[in-house]
Amino acid sequence: MIRSTPQQRAILEYLQGSRAHPAADMIYEHVRQDLPKVSMGTIYRNLENLVRDGHITKLDMPGAQKRYDGDLRAHHHVRCDLCGTIADLFATEPTQLAKTAESETGFTIHGCQILFSGLCSSCQKQSAEA
Ligand SMILES: [Zn+2]
Ligand SMILES: [Zn+2]
Repeated sequence: MIRSTPQQRAILEYLQGSRAHPAADMIYEHVRQDLPKVSMGTIYRNLENLVRDGHITKLDMPGAQKRYDGDLRAHHHVRCDLCGTIADLFATEPTQLAKTAESETGFTIHGCQILFSGLCSSCQKQSAEA
């Protein structure tokens, strides 16, 4: 990584070691433990740089905070509507869908993010008990 800063390294290490797909404020809380002087603006700036340089990916969440992912393997996500937990989904590359998208739109497809929404197992239990 060119000109990597301690902040950038801390963010990247945290994201690569976590499967929580944290939002920026969670990343901030974590990085601040090691680098108490870090600001929220610095976190955002470093996140944008890391996304731009392809070290992490950004997950746009409709109606919610963006989340960040340090796992660069091709995968999709499942999000819980109630608690916002995000799980990884590695199965089923939608190759056929990409081919259809290309033939129907004339685009060349570079990527695809599928986000399923639903209820995680612990929220299912809670709503069953309520
Ligand atoms: Zn849940
Ligand atoms: Zn993921």
